[in-house]
Amino acid sequence: MPLHVAIIGSGPSGFYTADSLLRASEDCRIDIVEALPTPYGLVRGGVAPDHQNTKRVSRLFAKIARNPRVTYFGNVSVGHAITLRELRQLYDAVVIAMGAGVDRSLEIPGCNKAGVHGSGAFVGWYNGHPDFRDLDPDLNSAKVAIIGNGNVALDIARVLVKTEAEMAESDLAAHAAAAIHQAPIEDVYIIGRRGPTDTKFTNKELSEVGDLVESAPTVDPTQLPRTVTGEMSDHQRSLREKNLATFRAFAARKIGNERKRLNFLFYAQPVEVMGGGRVEGMRFERTRIEAGRAVGTGETFDIPCRLVVSAIGYSVRPLAGVPIEEISGVVANRAGRVERGLYAVGWAKRGPSGVIGTNKADGDAAAHQILEEVTANGRAGGAGLRGLLDQRSLRWVSFNEWQQIDRAEIAAAPGEAPRQKFARVQDMLDVIGRQGEERPSATD
Ligand code: NAP
Repeated sequence: MPLHVAIIGSGPSGFYTADSLLRASEDCRIDIVEALPTPYGLVRGGVAPDHQNTKRVSRLFAKIARNPRVTYFGNVSVGHAITLRELRQLYDAVVIAMGAGVDRSLEIPGCNKAGVHGSGAFVGWYNGHPDFRDLDPDLNSAKVAIIGNGNVALDIARVLVKTEAEMAESDLAAHAAAAIHQAPIEDVYIIGRRGPTDTKFTNKELSEVGDLVESAPTVDPTQLPRTVTGEMSDHQRSLREKNLATFRAFAARKIGNERKRLNFLFYAQPVEVMGGGRVEGMRFERTRIEAGRAVGTGETFDIPCRLVVSAIGYSVRPLAGVPIEEISGVVANRAGRVERGLYAVGWAKRGPSGVIGTNKADGDAAAHQILEEVTANGRAGGAGLRGLLDQRSLRWVSFNEWQQIDRAEIAAAPGEAPRQKFARVQDMLDVIGRQGEERPSATD
């Protein structure tokens, strides 16, 4: 009797968990249940469109998906198509691998004005995520403010200022490319509430913005400390020193003919979004650092802009049956265990941090816990799920069908682009309909 495991979400944490389970047990059957027709989570919808090398990991995930003990159920939203409770009745164990899909709010006066977007929505929009296809951000602004000093802020800044030629080998969604490449953007401000040595930028990504064709980074040299101070590991110190050296190089750089600037501003916390119905500017309060935290000084300054993107982190999307910790916004868990039969991995487990490979250890831990405390119990597993979905006339998408969508996107790629993404679910389903693959039956 096989052990039936359902994994909710097909991003890196979901696939690494499937891989760990396949390696650890010959008797488990794994079903990956994904809300979108398309797999790979943040690899498709989060990783920057011009970082194609990072996306190559999806080849490994495709190999895992093709394992005969794995079934992919795309276009099945847990919480809508099927409840978590129903899923738990069908499977011996359920793994929550659905990431952290809700943008943290700035929580300052005016933060809900039109023209203020969370990074998850904004990145989803330019990456062709169907949930954000119609975000339609107004890019008619010479100045853009990006709040936060992490890699997501850098990704957004870079995508906004790169030229069409620089993005030619990317899979930037067509609707976003059309809007971005005709936007009158001249100054992008990347604003951190703490200092240059407190940034979360990785040095590779930070250095990259020094090599853009039309855009130059700017840094006020008076904001750069002479050295990295404070208690930290040698490794941490060396990472911070590298970033400081890069900022120094940016500050020393002569601005040439570049039409656009990426301006790094530090020690500034957002206090108000100004304007009427829509954003007309951002007010910041200057800060000083006390015990590692940004403390307001009372002195403020304004940046006029019609577009604000806050890249300040994410929390887990609420799902009935999943306890979420209020402050951290992650699934309440102990080392990944929510309760017997229910586990969390990836950003759902530990919050939005780390790189794609960080998820491997989560997958190993979840596989270990599942095999230690759950035994096969004659559950219906995938056959039961198919039956339920068919009963509800829900059009789920198999991995073969995703591969048809994939091929159609690749075939439609303009120029040197790797693909032209479909950004609407119906367009994806139409491709499958046209090619008329025989659907897997509810009984096999
Ligand atoms: P992050 O690295 O945690 O950065 C979040 C930033 O937001 C921090 O600078 C933080 O400042 C700031 N912040 C938080 N709350 C704020 C507030 N209320 N007001 C002002 N600033 C606030 O998060 P992320 O950029 O979203 O990235 C998420 C994860 O994905 C990270 O592990 C990142 O490295 C990874 N990622 C990697 C790549 C890549 O490798 N190319 C690309 C994208 C993302 P404090 O430090 O002061 O809290």
